[in-house]
Amino acid sequence: MSTAIYPGSFDPVTLGHLDIIKRAARQFDHLIVCVMINSEKHGLFLPEERVELVRRVTAGIPNVEVDCWRDLLSEYARKRNATVVVKGLRAVSDYEKECQMALINRKLNPNLDTMFLPARQNFTYLSSSVAKEMARYHVSLEGYVPAEITEDVQKKMDEYLQKSQS
Ligand code: ADP
Repeated sequence: MSTAIYPGSFDPVTLGHLDIIKRAARQFDHLIVCVMINSEKHGLFLPEERVELVRRVTAGIPNVEVDCWRDLLSEYARKRNATVVVKGLRAVSDYEKECQMALINRKLNPNLDTMFLPARQNFTYLSSSVAKEMARYHVSLEGYVPAEITEDVQKKMDEYLQKSQS
């Protein structure tokens, strides 16, 4: 059985991420979307909230599992018997960073290779940061994050802004 991992922060999951998830899920028997927890980086959503949002938007894809991990990705791949890391590439600027990470991951776990999928053209501008910026200024989130989670993202941003003003 081929198992691939799609890692990221997913703070929150965007339509660009979901497109990569759907395309990768067609290529592997089992795809694990892994929310990587970075204790240095505080996101808008808590890790378990990000997992819940990704689960909600991928509920209809039977071979997709959602998990989270706070250690090295190469270790997680070993634990889950995964041999492939899937990454989406939006621009040349993504490539440099992702290539370096792919080489490090293979050094740490020689059974682990990285496969890149080019971002769909209409999502190349899209990142979680852009989606959050839109929410901050109350621009409609349609076209940025999946419809099932637009309200959650807007509500979370409103709460965050309210807290930071008080
Ligand atoms: P972001 O850059 O949006 O904060 P993450 O850290 O969650 O995203 O990224 C996880 C993975 O998703 C990375 O491989 C990143 O290149 C990819 N990715 C992010 N946004 C898109 C997009 N719009 N289209 C395709 N891939 C994307």
